[in-house]
Amino acid sequence: MNKQFAVIGIGRFGSSVAETLHSIGCEVLAVDKDANRVQGIADWVTHVIEADTTDEKALRELGITNFDVVVVAIGEDIQASIMTTLLLKEIGVKKVVVKAQNALHGKVLEKIGADKVVFPERDMGVKVVQNLISPSILDFLDLSDDYSIVEIKAGAFFANQSLQELDIRARFGCNVIAIRSGGRFFISPTPDFIIHEGDIMVMIGHNDDLRRLQKKAYPDD
Ligand code: ATP
Repeated sequence: MNKQFAVIGIGRFGSSVAETLHSIGCEVLAVDKDANRVQGIADWVTHVIEADTTDEKALRELGITNFDVVVVAIGEDIQASIMTTLLLKEIGVKKVVVKAQNALHGKVLEKIGADKVVFPERDMGVKVVQNLISPSILDFLDLSDDYSIVEIKAGAFFANQSLQELDIRARFGCNVIAIRSGGRFFISPTPDFIIHEGDIMVMIGHNDDLRRLQKKAYPDD
């Protein structure tokens, strides 16, 4: 059975999380203290409830401990976000994911037991800048300070050559882990796989090596 989620705070972030979870088949309860927000999302999730989640009694009445994951997407009202998180952990919710407004808010959330703290605005800001600086990098995921996974669009440097011919591992120390080509996704492509212009290559490597490869492939980026 699919996991059951509750999303508290139906702003832009909360509604996007709730609607996306619902669209992939998860059961989703959306909670907000604002009746308009609750009504606005009613058609796009499984259940909606109007409640102030800083009120312990109201929170218990939601049966919130039955949910596998609770996402707290209360933004501006940092006090409400902290109170809600604290209460959720106190009444025994197993996994609480919370959106933080800033680093200090994030630190407090971790201290009071949030299982995962996310910084969507900060992370998206970093991605937008990265994409402005290097348009050929479509997306990236930091694995550590030194290693990342990046998505690079194949340009002339890669086009019409096999992975063996490109020899990316020996020349640049990076590994191609997947390729999106012609609407299909190829995981662990074989050495004879031919890259076409416009294919999307997913690579893993040290940031210095990925940068070296990107500079070589896109000197004008
Ligand atoms: P976004 O950027 O995602 O739109 P935001 O950072 O502007 O969000 P807010 O709009 O401040 O965040 O909060 C998101 C939602 O959380 C609002 O719809 C608000 O009504 C709701 N909310 C705030 N406090 C509570 C609370 N105590 N109980 C339930 N919902 C709450």
